[in-house]
Amino acid sequence: ITARVTKPMDTNQLKDIRNIILVSSGKGGVGKSTVASNLAVSLAADGAKVGLIDADIYGPSVPTMFDLVGAKPSARETEEGRTLILPIEKYGIKLLSLGFFADPDQPVPWRGPMASNAVKQLFNDADWGELDYLIVDLPPGTGDIHITITQGFPITGAVIVTTPQQVALADTRKGLAMFKMPGINIPVLGVIENMAYFTPEELPDNKYYLFGKDGGKALASSFDVPFLGEIPIVQGISEAGDKGEPIALNTSNIISAAFAQIAGKVA
Ligand code: ADP
Repeated sequence: ITARVTKPMDTNQLKDIRNIILVSSGKGGVGKSTVASNLAVSLAADGAKVGLIDADIYGPSVPTMFDLVGAKPSARETEEGRTLILPIEKYGIKLLSLGFFADPDQPVPWRGPMASNAVKQLFNDADWGELDYLIVDLPPGTGDIHITITQGFPITGAVIVTTPQQVALADTRKGLAMFKMPGINIPVLGVIENMAYFTPEELPDNKYYLFGKDGGKALASSFDVPFLGEIPIVQGISEAGDKGEPIALNTSNIISAAFAQIAGKVA
């Protein structure tokens, strides 16, 4: 991996982070967190130093996807008397999730500014150290958190996750347009089509396009951004996520290879 050095970092805490990459989607449930987790795992497997911020206030997934439900990060004092949150390290990835700070069974009744401040702290008040990539799993849609993150931090680029379905694509179009707005202007690194097709085990040569075909590809070309690749619907992906062991950890399957290929294009 040749790490790309982008704009100079303005916050001291982030000065040793080479790339901040947002993972975004128009709708919830399209597999944004699954993609963010597996990209983080693939980049780390390739030797990069990787961190992952789960900024999805509505449904933080990192605790589940990394088998860390109930885990609480500890903190340390700096010589200047500041308290820094220590990200939890798992599978070689430094992790922070809003879910680590909330009761997993309680809804979080945060108003916009409170949630935005909490997210800012995950960036500014954490001991990230040196990272090649800090991946940020955004909430779905376009809201306060998006404004906070895109305006507040030197973002390298955004990756867009969608399914090929029309309802997902319509929302993804809005999300893509947000990154291209003059005040935001974040490079879109490309579109990933998740749940692209299904292949039954007993019919390995058949692809069923349950949500339509090539919708993500068409979206990428209509916005003139790269198409990064497609991930099929595979039971193993959701099972691995629920077990807290992202599928890309097992490097011997074709899904890992697909994530590795996408990670290579993002890197
Ligand atoms: P989002 O972050 O967009 O809300 P998630 O990553 O939480 O979506 O995924 C929603 C659900 O779909 C999860 O249960 C996840 O395990 C499952 N899932 C995501 N992508 C796939 C896939 N390609 N194949 C099978 N299940 C998937």
